[in-house]
Amino acid sequence: MTSNARSIAIIGAGFSGTSMAMQLLRRASARDRILLFEKSPHLGRGVAYGTSDPRHLLNIRAGRMGAFDEDPQGFLTWLNGPGSGDIEPLQRPVSPEAFVPRRFYGRYLQHCLQEALPPPENEQQFQRVSGEVVDIIPAVNCLLVKLQHGALFAVDRAILALGNQAPDRNRLPHYVGDPWNEDALHDLDAAADVLIIGTSLTMVDTVLSLLAKGHLGRIYAVSRRGLLPQTHSVEGRQARWPLMMPLPNTCLGLLRLARSAAGQAASAGRPWEEVIEAFRPHIQAIWHDLPLAERKRFLRHLRPWWEMHRHRIPFEAAAKVAEAIRSGQLRVMAGRIEDQNPCDEGVEVRIRARGHTKSEWLRVARIINCSGPKTDYAAGESDLLRNLVARGDARPDPLALGLDVAPSCAVLNANGRPSDRLYAVGPLTRGVHWEITAVPEVRRQCADLADQLSGAGNARAGPADPTESSKLSSQPAGPAGSPFQKSA
Ligand SMILES: Cc1cc2nc3c(=O)[nH]c(=O)nc-3n(C[C@H](O)[C@H](O)[C@H](O)COP(=O)(O)OP(=O)(O)OC[C@H]3O[C@@H](n4cnc5c(N)ncnc54)[C@H](O)[C@@H]3O)c2cc1C
Repeated sequence: MTSNARSIAIIGAGFSGTSMAMQLLRRASARDRILLFEKSPHLGRGVAYGTSDPRHLLNIRAGRMGAFDEDPQGFLTWLNGPGSGDIEPLQRPVSPEAFVPRRFYGRYLQHCLQEALPPPENEQQFQRVSGEVVDIIPAVNCLLVKLQHGALFAVDRAILALGNQAPDRNRLPHYVGDPWNEDALHDLDAAADVLIIGTSLTMVDTVLSLLAKGHLGRIYAVSRRGLLPQTHSVEGRQARWPLMMPLPNTCLGLLRLARSAAGQAASAGRPWEEVIEAFRPHIQAIWHDLPLAERKRFLRHLRPWWEMHRHRIPFEAAAKVAEAIRSGQLRVMAGRIEDQNPCDEGVEVRIRARGHTKSEWLRVARIINCSGPKTDYAAGESDLLRNLVARGDARPDPLALGLDVAPSCAVLNANGRPSDRLYAVGPLTRGVHWEITAVPEVRRQCADLADQLSGAGNARAGPADPTESSKLSSQPAGPAGSPFQKSA
């Protein structure tokens, strides 16, 4: 067992965990320790930036993807500088408006982390630990971070940055539950028909990969409403249509406001994207103000419409999808899967189209589940989350979109009490903040939490109430003050 005084474990080294590590390193003293745990072989890639397919593009323009809030152009600067090396098929200078392959972003994050690492005389400040964390156990004065093979690390605090869970981990001969796994299309006969569950961003990635492989068979894509993501404008508008304040706190009020603003924008010759951009800085505040019943209403009725406008795809990708639809190779369906049975060619699937009483049978060689990240963490594949929830050290948020956390990012235990040792960042906190999946929001959240843990305060939210001890924090007090308080 490794013992560390004044130490923070970060679990997961996708964007959120890497960003958290960099922010903590910026504020660390020589005695502080940051342990970054990652189960995959790579740091800084995670699900989003681990793809090697050059057709999988960032859905945010390069000029806004900097790893740090104060330098949104940082990624672009790196892309255009000598340090990024070969950026084929891109040509320098890359425009700030460009949508570039996601794999470059993983490389950029690795570069940023490298730059943030302490000098050799302080190298003990940072430790990368390979392996899957399966539990975080409260102990006297510390937390014990447990790896799958049994090793234990004692730390003062832990930050969960576990990111996006695959829709389903099952991999059967004719079914792929994890569309982000590089072998999702492996061994697929080019002439075979394929069914994709979901019609959103991951469906688009999968279709682009299939087309690039020279796939000839038909591609069916089904979702309840059959809505495709909208397309980013070519010229990259950043303008924000002025919204009437204060913003409503009902779904109906918000819908009416969005519609009237879009109508006014159209009359003024402005695109509807400006209305979405105008909402974006307020989305977390809107979500915080929405009563639970209204949040449920949003998820039931508005979510697919919001997401297709909010999470747009680059025009290059949209053009290829449109061409596949035009040629008849891709058929997008609104409906639901009612039944499926194995057959000689693969699987027979019964689909009932939305608004129809009759169903149709499709025969496909493979079903690929692109329905989006699984958010029910209590029932999910993560041993770590299942253990935390089962012991009552964490609980799902009321909408099962992630874990319940305080505004300070402190994880709430089964009784709703914020821990003073266990925190969560990134998409795991989406139930509480909603708009917390993309880089611009997550980088700010990580900087705020690092400020809070280093005692620099947090403008956004106060720290957890220290008098309310969670199960994790109910152990005898750890080292005085924050692990990162320099005076400790
Ligand atoms: C396909 C896809 C494309 C996206 N594209 C964009 C984009 O273009 N722009 C944008 O701003 N946002 C994009 N996003 C949003 C994305 O959520 C964030 O940008 C960001 O990547 C989230 O990072 P993360 O670290 O929270 O999650 P992840 O990327 O999922 O990383 C989590 C990491 O934690 C590790 N991990 C999990 N559990 C454990 C454990 N128990 N022990 C050890 N390690 C563990 C995983 O191996 C993984 O490396 C995309 C998301 C997806 C899914």
